[in-house]
Amino acid sequence: MYKSPALTDISYEELAAKNKQYIWHPFTQMKDYIEDQPVIIAEGKGRKLIDVNGKEYWDGVSSIWLNVHGHNVEELNEAIKQQLEKVAHSTLLGMANVPAILLAEKVINLMPEGLTKVFYSDSGATSVEIAVKMAFQYWQHKGKGNKKQFITMKEAYHGDTIGAVSVGAIDLFHKAYSSLLFDCIKIPYPAVYRSPFGNSETVIVRESLKELEKLLAERSDEIAALIIEPIVQGASGIIVMPEGYLRGVRELCTKYEVLMIADEVATGFGRTGKMFACEHEHVTPDLLTAGKGLTGGYLPVAITVASEEIYNAFLGDYEEQKTFFHGHSYTGNPLGCAVAIANLELIEKRNLIQEVEIMSEYLAAQLSAFSQLDHVGDIRQKGFMIGIELVRNKDTAEPFDWKDRVGVKVCRRARELGMLLRPLGNVIVFMPPLAAAKEELDEMADILYQSIRDITEKN
Ligand code: PLP
Repeated sequence: MYKSPALTDISYEELAAKNKQYIWHPFTQMKDYIEDQPVIIAEGKGRKLIDVNGKEYWDGVSSIWLNVHGHNVEELNEAIKQQLEKVAHSTLLGMANVPAILLAEKVINLMPEGLTKVFYSDSGATSVEIAVKMAFQYWQHKGKGNKKQFITMKEAYHGDTIGAVSVGAIDLFHKAYSSLLFDCIKIPYPAVYRSPFGNSETVIVRESLKELEKLLAERSDEIAALIIEPIVQGASGIIVMPEGYLRGVRELCTKYEVLMIADEVATGFGRTGKMFACEHEHVTPDLLTAGKGLTGGYLPVAITVASEEIYNAFLGDYEEQKTFFHGHSYTGNPLGCAVAIANLELIEKRNLIQEVEIMSEYLAAQLSAFSQLDHVGDIRQKGFMIGIELVRNKDTAEPFDWKDRVGVKVCRRARELGMLLRPLGNVIVFMPPLAAAKEELDEMADILYQSIRDITEKN
């Protein structure tokens, strides 16, 4: 049997040296990183990752928000192996493959009513690029080519390709590229913590929608679409929107003929306690993007799902050139689609979405004890998406200076205690794999608590 010589019997020290010599890591200041001792993962088992030295860690952020059942899951491994015996990849340009067809059917059956066509790609960012291009071109096909602008939310994150960055709004990540980007209209996400409208959720929703309506009433003839992270804005710090806002946005988009794009890359496939976050408010967007959890955290497959109305607008005689000119080499990859089917079947079999709904209440009860800690300013949660904001002063919500890197220090402490986390500034993100059991959640929450206390209360 073939065994890669490159993968056997290499010491941690050798791997660390090669890592330092050859890899440029994403979202990482390499100057700091190369001075540190890197975690080098060798294996995964259940909800844990194991490094090359044999140390075990809870996967406290689901390997960047995507793991569903855990690692090394028999059913998912088997799905890939079986597909591998047939074919690893064939293109979707002008032809089809079996897993891509069957997955599309499965996905459509799970989608909010009214979304009917799946366009495949391979990352959250590409799924957003596709949605943006579809929305833009849709209006050209409808004879309203002046509808070119996009509305996005302040602090939004939709991925790192240039179109996705254009509809993003996190200064720290995006401002270096500002002259490369197309302009968007940016409106505030209706955050409750530090809201200028006070802390009544009803008032926040009402005032936020009033502002949006004013904008749409004045400018909807130039606006193609509004893009939103439904229910939870992730990378800005796990901001949970108050009830009623998403439904209000849907109604306004319909009223003013603006397409609604729901970016469910982070929230999709059960993360918030529903299959899709839009379901919390019975909303069907015109375009929905998803990725991450689709393959259970195994392989890079993403989808942009469109309504029949949008799909139909691209139909025409060849000479009309209404084709959607977009595709990627690995679009509809059979291995990825096969494991995605197995993942969705396992979600169904384990009744996982309902489990998340139930377990998230258990988790909320565990987390309520954290609010007694001196520097926990806000605990935000929807399902298994949790953000704990650490502040210098709880009474005034005064933040820690970003240069103090409190979030980084807490996550570093968690790593020592056996859990991998990644912060967003001063927000500690906790996103356990969806299938984590009660006892596992207890252990993870204990490490989280101790890490926050050790770092923020040590003086
Ligand atoms: N959209 C949202 C809401 C996300 O949270 C992310 C990633 O975190 C993306 C898009 C980008 O996804 P990817 O990293 O797969 O490109």
